[in-house]
Amino acid sequence: MNYYSLNKQAPNTNFKDAVIKGLAPDKGLYFPSEIKPLPATFFEQIGQLSPVEIAFEAIKQFVLPDIPEPTLKAIVEDTLNFDFPVVPLNEQISTLELFHGPTMAFKDVGARFMARCLGYFNENNNEDVTVLVATSGDTGGAVANGFLGVKGVNVVILYPSGKVSAIQEKQLTTLGKNITALEVDGVFDDCQDMVKKAFLDTSITDHMQLTSANSINVARWLPQMFYFMFAYKQLQRKYEDIVFSIPSGNFGNICAGMMAQQLGLPIKHFIAANNANNVVTEYLQTKHYIPKSSIQTISNAMDVGNPSNFIRIQEIYQHNFELLQNNLSSFSFSDNETKAAMTEIYEQYHYIADPHGAIGYLGCKAYAEKHPDAHCVFLETAHPTKFLDVVEETIHTAMELPDQIKAVMDKNKVSKKISNYEDLKTFLLAMT
Ligand SMILES: *Cc1c(COP(=O)(O)O)cnc(C)c1O
Repeated sequence: MNYYSLNKQAPNTNFKDAVIKGLAPDKGLYFPSEIKPLPATFFEQIGQLSPVEIAFEAIKQFVLPDIPEPTLKAIVEDTLNFDFPVVPLNEQISTLELFHGPTMAFKDVGARFMARCLGYFNENNNEDVTVLVATSGDTGGAVANGFLGVKGVNVVILYPSGKVSAIQEKQLTTLGKNITALEVDGVFDDCQDMVKKAFLDTSITDHMQLTSANSINVARWLPQMFYFMFAYKQLQRKYEDIVFSIPSGNFGNICAGMMAQQLGLPIKHFIAANNANNVVTEYLQTKHYIPKSSIQTISNAMDVGNPSNFIRIQEIYQHNFELLQNNLSSFSFSDNETKAAMTEIYEQYHYIADPHGAIGYLGCKAYAEKHPDAHCVFLETAHPTKFLDVVEETIHTAMELPDQIKAVMDKNKVSKKISNYEDLKTFLLAMT
């Protein structure tokens, strides 16, 4: 498959090069030059297919021939070593639990897939690739875990000191091996700025191959199509009109759902559920896209003022506002509404949602007001214990830590403190 840059100022390239570069040389996001729908029989018979078969069919056109079929099958199988259950709350609303992976966040799927692709590309390469990533919480843990021990790949994670949860910090500072955690004296935006600066700094990039591992990378973004198909498989015999409500930050997850729809998955409509960071909600109301600085909320993985994947969504819908509006609704909710939703879900359904999932639930409820016949699935993007303080305080109930979390809590944190860009540069150059 060929990929082009959405800035249209860089040459087309293949999957391998798009994965290794992350971003095109003109700073545009890569996008597949063609999307071939799967045959209708695939969706009619999806009930008989295993998750690995479904995922392989969905992704192969985007990857072959850069990774041979048997290797790609093995990568998919290795990526998907946990479950994706749909849990019904009532006749109108279900949740798709994406938190059964090693770091209990949906980002495990993309991080594991990307790590294995990069590992394959680097098998016979003596030059290491360095994955450089800034995290406000969940990305760091998923990337660290996904890339742990992958030959030829070093991972450097920048996180804001004191601004990620205790569990999240342990997940990214206790692995060792090819993973280094840099603890930045600053906020998330400082980490992000340093990473962006490093990618543009030829005194670094002349000496080492840097790549990103956030959803701008096609190998992290595209596998997120899989679980929309797994949810459809579980619900297709029960409901006609299936709608997804996706708690959105950088809009990579929802954009992957839209790719699944392009492949022919019968999804009736998408709901972008947002916290106070409401650029897209406002865009759909006013037709004006106005990026803002991010606002801090209790659903902090969605505190994004200028979602990087929105440009891919525009491309999918051919920059046609009406077409987009017919497929996408968006609602924005405050922290108080989020907490009230967590309480409601707990009291009415005895289900514990994390703050991000709770916003997805509110998206379903808002949509249901005008569409009572649809069945809405909200994505539960992280396990509630990852946001332990706010969840326990809101529902007034103590939660037991799952085994994956307990296992890291006992390990020792190892991080290197840095306070400015020069520190980062010195660290990176010392690796070469
Ligand atoms: C990353 C993340 C999101 C937002 O996903 P995007 O693909 O950036 O829209 C939502 N919830 C949680 C828990 C996350 O970690």
